[in-house]
Amino acid sequence: MSGKLADWTSGAEAILYQSCGACGRAQYFRRSFCAACGAPDVVEKSASGTGTVYATSLVCRAATPETRAHIPYNILLVDTREGFRMMAHGDNDLAIGDQVVAGYRSFAGRLVPYFEKRK
Ligand SMILES: [Zn+2]
Repeated sequence: MSGKLADWTSGAEAILYQSCGACGRAQYFRRSFCAACGAPDVVEKSASGTGTVYATSLVCRAATPETRAHIPYNILLVDTREGFRMMAHGDNDLAIGDQVVAGYRSFAGRLVPYFEKRK
């Protein structure tokens, strides 16, 4: 099969998710089947990058030397419009319930999704 989509984990500015052809559930972690109903017909789709902040966690201690330059930084859980929840970076002043939109920034040498408040 060709035509596999690229996402931020391979350096492209995109967030991918899977949508189940049987029950319609969205899932972020790639599997060969639907985690909700077990159907094998999951389809990879590109997400809009919009969502709502579900949780925030301000990181003040660096886990690795590469991340030290970024502290303090915010790690978010975002409920996307498509219905899956993802972990990502975002502005430090974001609060639970904020409407956000994803951009992309370099973090410790990698391109990562970075959420900002939607205007
Ligand atoms: Zn399903």
